[in-house]
Amino acid sequence: MKISIYPGSFDPITNGHIDIIERASKISDKLIVSVLNNNEKKSLFTVDERVEMIKESTKNFQNVEVEYFDGLLVDYAKRKNANIIIRGLRAVTDFEYELQLAQTNRELYNEVETLFLLTSIQYSYLSSSIVKQVAEENGDISKFVPDFVANKLKEKYKINTL
Ligand code: ADP
Repeated sequence: MKISIYPGSFDPITNGHIDIIERASKISDKLIVSVLNNNEKKSLFTVDERVEMIKESTKNFQNVEVEYFDGLLVDYAKRKNANIIIRGLRAVTDFEYELQLAQTNRELYNEVETLFLLTSIQYSYLSSSIVKQVAEENGDISKFVPDFVANKLKEKYKINTL
């Protein structure tokens, strides 16, 4: 059974992430989307909020599970019997960091393979931080995230949704 993990901050989930989840779910028997619970990285949404938003966005995908994890990704992968780590590549700028991460993970656990999916062109510019910046200035984020995520962002930035 091919069990894959798609780890990330997802602060918040965007249409770019959802595109990767949809495509990764098709090549996995089970895909676990997992929010990294990292206290050092300042996030806008709590881990629970992020997990909830991902669950809502992926409820139509039968073989997708959503949870969070602490600690090393490879230890988590071992616990979950997962041999595939999914990451998205948007541009060359992502590459160097992702390469380091993938090589390190394989050094730590040689049974794990990192699989890179190239982002669909229409989402190649999209990042959670850009979406937050636009939302904070009350810009239109309807093309970037699902509606309920847009509403959550508005609540966070206390923008009147009426
Ligand atoms: P991290 O903090 O781990 O980079 P992110 O939530 O920003 O977490 O991203 C998680 C994964 O999703 C990474 O592999 C990242 O490259 C990928 N990703 C982020 N935005 C997009 C996008 N617009 N299209 C495709 N993949 C993306």
